[in-house]
Amino acid sequence: MKYYKIVTYGCQMNEHESEKLCGILEKFNLTKTDDDAIADVIVFNTCTIRENAERRAYGNIGALKKLKKQNPEKIVAVGGCLPQQSGKADDLKAKFPFIDIIFGTHNLTEFENMLNRRLESGKKFIDISLDEYKMPIDVPVKRSTYPNAYVNVMFGCNNFCTYCIVPYVRGRERSRKPEDIVSEVKSLVESGYKEITLLGQNVDSYGKDLSPKVDFSSLLEQVAKIDGKFRLRFMSNHPKDVNQKLADTIKNNDKICNSIHFPVQSGSTRVLALMNRRYTREDYLKKIKMLRKTVKDIAITTDIMVGFPMETEKDFKDSLTLLKKVKYDGAFTFVYSKRSGTKAYSMDGHVPEDTKKQRIVKLVAIQNNVNKKLAKKYLGKTVEVLVDEFNTDCGYYMGRDERGKAIHFSSNENIVGQFVNVKITKANGISIYGEIV
Ligand code: SF4
Repeated sequence: MKYYKIVTYGCQMNEHESEKLCGILEKFNLTKTDDDAIADVIVFNTCTIRENAERRAYGNIGALKKLKKQNPEKIVAVGGCLPQQSGKADDLKAKFPFIDIIFGTHNLTEFENMLNRRLESGKKFIDISLDEYKMPIDVPVKRSTYPNAYVNVMFGCNNFCTYCIVPYVRGRERSRKPEDIVSEVKSLVESGYKEITLLGQNVDSYGKDLSPKVDFSSLLEQVAKIDGKFRLRFMSNHPKDVNQKLADTIKNNDKICNSIHFPVQSGSTRVLALMNRRYTREDYLKKIKMLRKTVKDIAITTDIMVGFPMETEKDFKDSLTLLKKVKYDGAFTFVYSKRSGTKAYSMDGHVPEDTKKQRIVKLVAIQNNVNKKLAKKYLGKTVEVLVDEFNTDCGYYMGRDERGKAIHFSSNENIVGQFVNVKITKANGISIYGEIV
């Protein structure tokens, strides 16, 4: 065996888990490729948060049938949230009998064993242990996002938002010990990583399950004390749990970026209750005020959806007015999609697709307008940027300031991984351009 391919769907959590799967695969002396034809092992790290990601995974797995027939030695593995969902592993097995290994989010650590067993015996394996909430830690990680690195602080979620499948496929909250997190970040900083993102489904719940209990703000403080020049980010937050202590911690620690992802989901209190979000529009707006009052120039981004079951025209307008009022620095806007296994799936009053489409167009137009206005504020300013990559398509380097804004600029030298000061010369919406000074 020489090559492996990995296909990742979904969020940062999944991307980071793919880095762990790559680490395991490279223990087998395999090299990464994008070519299905030459890959000896192909792993699909699936996501089930949106129907679209699930549909794409099914399509891509099905497309391998011919290659697998030509070369039965090729190993096909499917992992992640999709097989972890009730009944889906059997469905995958029935639809694609050529799959060799099926594993879930809880037993990523078993993947190495499963691959060894498959190689030794030629037999197929399914291993989805929902009862045992293992944390996918202590596995090799092949990182692919230098100068940025993701570090899990916790796994699972206890919130049960009615549209979300995560608590069913990733189990209840389990936190890593603070000393383990600090030690991982320390070694990443020592090996040259410049931006660390602490990851959890709901980082504000961090540590409630530990003994003694630790809260997320204390963890942030401990991580921010690590020596060296680096930036610290975290995601994702739940508005019901964000508090003054967190805002003060961001304000008082230079390494923690003045930026927060603060997913509102809807601007209507009635819809928020149907979603089981456990805050009202008013509670949310109060916390926005508190964050902006405490942390000067904090960047606030959000997730907001249209077309949740029973969302009326009035509810939708509440979302539009919220976007206009808050003026987010960025918003992930999306259309509600039915997920079987969630409470919202069986609710009455699903919104017709046409209405959802009309609503998302209006929502996006408002946010685009906000983006343009906020981008203009950057004109003439000089900001410190961490250079992430060279974009071969547009011929510019791209990096972000501490508020998370993507900024493009030229350089004759390879400066990926460096902090540079950039003066902004052009700003038109999402794209901001400048010159190194
Ligand atoms: S907080 Fe809600 S949306 Fe986020 S992972 Fe948990 S259940 Fe899903």
